[in-house]
Order: sequence, then C-alpha cells, then structure tokens
Amino acid sequence: MHNLSEILSGPGRSIAIAGHVHPDGDCIGSCVGLLLYIEENYPQHRAAVFLEETKGALLFLTEGRGIRSAVPEGMQFDQLILCDVSSPDRIGVCPELLAAVEDTVSIDHHISNPGICRINHIEPEASSCSEVLAGLMDAERISPEAAEALYTGIVHDSGVFQYGSTSPRTMRTAAMLMEKGIPFSRIIQESFFARSFAESRALGFVLSRAELSGGGLLAVGSITAAEMQEIGAGLPDLDGIAAQLRLIRGTEAAAFFYETAPGSVKVSLRSTNYLNVSELAGRFGGGGHVRAAGCTLSGTVEEAKAALVPVLLDALSEGGAPAL
Ligand code: AMP
Ligand code: MN
Ligand code: MN
Repeated sequence: MHNLSEILSGPGRSIAIAGHVHPDGDCIGSCVGLLLYIEENYPQHRAAVFLEETKGALLFLTEGRGIRSAVPEGMQFDQLILCDVSSPDRIGVCPELLAAVEDTVSIDHHISNPGICRINHIEPEASSCSEVLAGLMDAERISPEAAEALYTGIVHDSGVFQYGSTSPRTMRTAAMLMEKGIPFSRIIQESFFARSFAESRALGFVLSRAELSGGGLLAVGSITAAEMQEIGAGLPDLDGIAAQLRLIRGTEAAAFFYETAPGSVKVSLRSTNYLNVSELAGRFGGGGHVRAAGCTLSGTVEEAKAALVPVLLDALSEGGAPAL
C-alpha cells in the first residue's frame, strides 16, 4: 500500500478501527488520527473506533470522539482496520470482528506481526504506527486535530524522539505535523512526562528495590498486586517503569515484572543497543519490537523471574539474541 486512498476510496461503508489491549499513546493516536482523517476526507463512510478505556493523560485524544468500548449487538462492519496490533490475541475490544468482517486491514510497525489481515501494511523500521499512518496519508489533507493525535503517537512510541527507532523520516513526519500548528510542547509535557502521584510512587517503589545482575548489564524490577495496593497504585500507573529501569547507567537491558491477576505476571522488556528482546519475549509467547517487548507468564512474580532472568542473562552473555 502506498496511500490510504487504496483502502478508503470507493462507495460509502461502515468501518471499524481497533487497537490493542491496554492501549498506549501510539495505539490511541493512530486510531483517533485515522478516524479523523476518514471523517474529514471520506464523509461517505461511517467510522467508529473500538478501544479499551483511555488513561487520564491521553483523554484529550479520545474525549468527544464517540470511542466505543464494546460492539453494540447487531452492529455490522464492511471493513476492519487494526492499528498497532501485532497479533489476533492482542486486539482490545472487538477480537471477534477479525473473523466476522470480510475486508480486514492491518497497519502496524511490530516486527513480530506475522500479517493477520487480508491487507497487511507493516513497517518494522518505523518509530510508531502513527508514523506509518502519517506516511500513508496525503499531508495536505491532515487536519490540526488529526495531526495532534498522530504527533502524540510518535512522541510516545519514540520516547520523545529518543529510541533507536527514531529516523530522519520520523523527524520529517513530526515536522510536517508540527506545521499544522499543534501544541507540541504541551503534548510532550502533559501526556508523556507528567506523572500522577500514584505513578510517581509506583516508580519510586520499583526503583528503590531494583536489582542489577549480569555484571550490571541487566536491571530487574518488580511489583506484586499486594504491593501495588499498599502504595495506592494500580496497573495503569506502571507505564514507563521499564523504560526508567533501562536508564540505569551501564545496563543493556531491563525486565520489569508485575502481577496483573492472581497467578499471572506481565513482563516488560527493554534493551538499549543490541539485545533482541522481541525474540526473547517470543520464546515465552509474547512479542513486540527489537528494543521493547513483552510477554505474560503464569505463576508468581518470583517464579516468573526465575524462568526469565536466566534466559536474559544467557542472551546477554552471548552478546545478545540475534539482532535484526
Ligand atoms: P509493554 O512492555 O507492555 O510496554 O510492551 C512493549 C511492546 O511489546 C509493545 O509494543 C507491545 O505491543 C509489545 N507487547 C507487549 N506484551 C506483548 C505480548 N504479550 N505479546 C505481544 N506483544 C507484546
Ligand atoms: Mn502500542
Ligand atoms: Mn506502537
């Protein structure tokens, strides 16, 4: 696909746009940016976004946009467009639509995405799904509101233009969106850097108990459900902790373990220069990107650490799992 017109032209139809479970800035920015682009340039279509509840810092993107958290009984769609979704089991609100809708499209940047739709447009080198989408849009037809959503997505997935996935094209795309007159400073400060009190306490708790291993190459942090309750934090307050662990000087990788339900532990993996964490997460049924990936293990936090940390240390001692 070279342009979204290849999938959006033609007679009016109903389009469902959906993102992944626990939607992040890129996922929400992509879905909302695409929704606005369709509404503004293809008024013959009827589009709706399906996303799980949005956390506070990103509400400015979703409020008043008619985002749906369930598929109403009897509602039918001619087309399904998945944004930032790497596998069928990662679809947030409406996984059933993947089989029910005939015309399905995946727009993504996950290296682990095997191509789950009829049309698959996956750019693993892109910083974000929002960057991929912006590249498929006609720049002059992107409104300031759509630009705000896509810019937010790029900012979040690139860590404010910091991660290795940031390219000259990322910067050119951001510049194009900036030229629409968006409040870029406020977006970065309020949606990316600002932390609630609960998020700050959770971060402090995990960092204060973090451990280094592998001669300082690996930082490991964790939090149980009971500990979260003790400090007054919930699961949505844990975003960004893995990235902070990775900032510890000298580390190549970080692993953050957190209990999402009794007997279920989510692991967020991050690396800096060479460790392919997508490949490692894949061995445990997860996936993601080369430098940011995740998986879910069953058992306690301690059991999950016992299963995963030796594998990470092995990979680090070998100089990293096969890179891209
Ligand atoms: P997280 O650690 O949840 O911030 O996720 C980092 C990256 O890995 C994101 O791009 C996710 O989409 C991806 N990811 C996280 N968990 C999984 C999983 N269980 N399966 C596949 N991809 C995942
Ligand atoms: Mn995402
Ligand atoms: Mn993304």
